[in-house]
Amino acid sequence: MEIEREQLQVLFTREQLAQKVSCTAKRITEDYNGKNPLIIGVLNGAFMFFADLVREVDIPCEVDFVRAESYSGKFSIGEVTLSLKGKLPVCGRDIIIVEDILDTGRTLNKIREEILKDSPKSVKTAVLFDKPSRRTVDFKADYICFEIPDLFVVGYGLDCDEKYRNLPFVAVKK
Ligand code: 5GP
Ligand code: MG
Repeated sequence: MEIEREQLQVLFTREQLAQKVSCTAKRITEDYNGKNPLIIGVLNGAFMFFADLVREVDIPCEVDFVRAESYSGKFSIGEVTLSLKGKLPVCGRDIIIVEDILDTGRTLNKIREEILKDSPKSVKTAVLFDKPSRRTVDFKADYICFEIPDLFVVGYGLDCDEKYRNLPFVAVKK
């Protein structure tokens, strides 16, 4: 792990992440005041962001997870598959989808399409990172913590071939 860590350049520290995640949670708390949203995390990448975010959402809410896969190592393999669907019904609910990165837009687009089939009351999306320069599908997130250029980032839930997810910071591989 020591050698691997030497190849990483920190992009966002634990403190910077916490501060932005907290701001986003406050916005969600205000926007959903009096509601009871169902907050759906996208596994695996969003697990850390999701846990930190919902911990600071100060209204009644419920949580669930879906799993989407589109990447193999550093490269997108194009087709998005939902290998796990949420357990709780979404019909009539205010849904917030929480994803790690909005990149080409295919993953969130596919997840939103699937959720919309079950007639939710509303659907919004929250992302830790937005890479607008990489978009191939027209998609805008409602809550964005950080906009970043076309860099491949790891840590804070994000992997490269399943490594680095446990890092408390976000880094670029050198
Ligand atoms: P999209 O479908 O928007 O192209 O891709 C979204 C997914 O690709 C994200 O959920 C994430 O899993 C993966 N991804 C995109 N960019 C990065 C990156 O810089 N680092 C890592 N670790 N995953 C990424
Ligand atoms: Mg992901």
